[in-house]
Amino acid sequence: MISMDDFWLYLEVFPWLGYCISGFFGLIFGSFLTFLFYRIQNNEPWLWGQGASRSKCPSCKINLGAIDLIPVLSWAISCGKCRHCKKGVPIRYPLIEIGTSIIFLLIYRVCQG
Ligand SMILES: [Zn+2]
Repeated sequence: MISMDDFWLYLEVFPWLGYCISGFFGLIFGSFLTFLFYRIQNNEPWLWGQGASRSKCPSCKINLGAIDLIPVLSWAISCGKCRHCKKGVPIRYPLIEIGTSIIFLLIYRVCQG
């Protein structure tokens, strides 16, 4: 277990580590945004305490597994199609995830000074 002091030291020694962590959290946050936009747009619950369910394919309504929910990679591996029904998944999902990741990287860069 590393302490927070060790963590900050690692970031100074390995500057690329901060970019990797920022980019990773940007992808995760972007994935959450696509989930949130979809639920709000379709008037579906998005809070688990209020009846939100697992993410589903909009076409075949099958529950998506962990392998289907990896930001950008799932879309790229499946060539932009649902693994089950082969219907297209809009490119806006990976683009939002990539865009959010870039924003997180820029924020990290600015905070570095
Ligand atoms: Zn499907």
